Amino acid sequence: MTQPSQETLEGRYRALVVEDEPDQRELLRYNLARNGFEVYCAETGSRALAILEEQTPDVIVLDLMLPGMDGLQVCQSIRSRTETSAIPIVMLTARGEDTDIVAGLELGADDYITKPYSPRVLLARVKAVMRSRSKSDGNGQPAGDEPIIRHGDLVIRPERFEVSIDSKPIKLSGTEFRMLVLLAGKPGRVFTRAQIIAAVHGNNCAVTDRSVDVHIFWLRQKLGSAGQLVEAVRGVGYRFRDAES
Ligand code: CA
Repeated sequence: MTQPSQETLEGRYRALVVEDEPDQRELLRYNLARNGFEVYCAETGSRALAILEEQTPDVIVLDLMLPGMDGLQVCQSIRSRTETSAIPIVMLTARGEDTDIVAGLELGADDYITKPYSPRVLLARVKAVMRSRSKSDGNGQPAGDEPIIRHGDLVIRPERFEVSIDSKPIKLSGTEFRMLVLLAGKPGRVFTRAQIIAAVHGNNCAVTDRSVDVHIFWLRQKLGSAGQLVEAVRGVGYRFRDAES
C-alpha cells in the first residue's frame, strides 16, 4: 500500500491536538496520523501546556471551546513562551464564533477551521500554516537575493515597490501595496482588519476597519483578474488564496 499524501510532507512531522471531545479528538488523531504525522493528544489546555514542556511539535490544532482554560488562553500562553512562540497554530471553532476567531488570530493563531470540517480541509490548512511559517523563517529565499513574491503571473518586488501581472506594471497606492505584500507574503493565512491596519500603519493609527475594506476594494480592482486572489473571509478579515491548498 502506498501513501501518496505522506510524500508531500518531507520526513515525519509532529502535531499536538488539543480537543476535549473524545470523538473529535480521535478523528483528528486518525486523520493526521494517516497522513504521516506523529500525534500527541491533550484533552485540556493545561495538559497541552504540560506536553509542550516536554515536546516541540511542528503544528498545534487547538479547539477553542475547552473546559477550564479555553483555547484563547492556551493560544496566548503558547505565544508568550519563547520555546513555543513560533509553533504554527490552527484553531478549531464552531460556526458563529467570529468574535473568538478574530481574538484568536490577534493572539497569534495562524489560521482556523470551522466545524464541521472535512479531513481534506484540515490537512490543507495544517500544511499551509507549516509552509507559511517555514517561509517566514527565511528558508524559502536564498540569502542576499531581493525577496520576490510570485503567484502565477503576479510578481511582487517588495523592496522595489513594484507589482506586475504578466510583466505589465500595476500602479498601487502605498497602502494598497503594503496590504498586498502582507497578504501575498503569507498565502492561505487569514489577517483580521486590525492586523492589516497594524502592519500597514502601525498600532497607533486611526485607520478604521471600514477603510481597510475600501483599500482592499481598490487593490482588487487594480489587480484585475488576479484580484480574486485576495479573498474576504466573512466576519473575520482577508486572506490571499493559497494555490497549493
Ligand atoms: Ca470542545
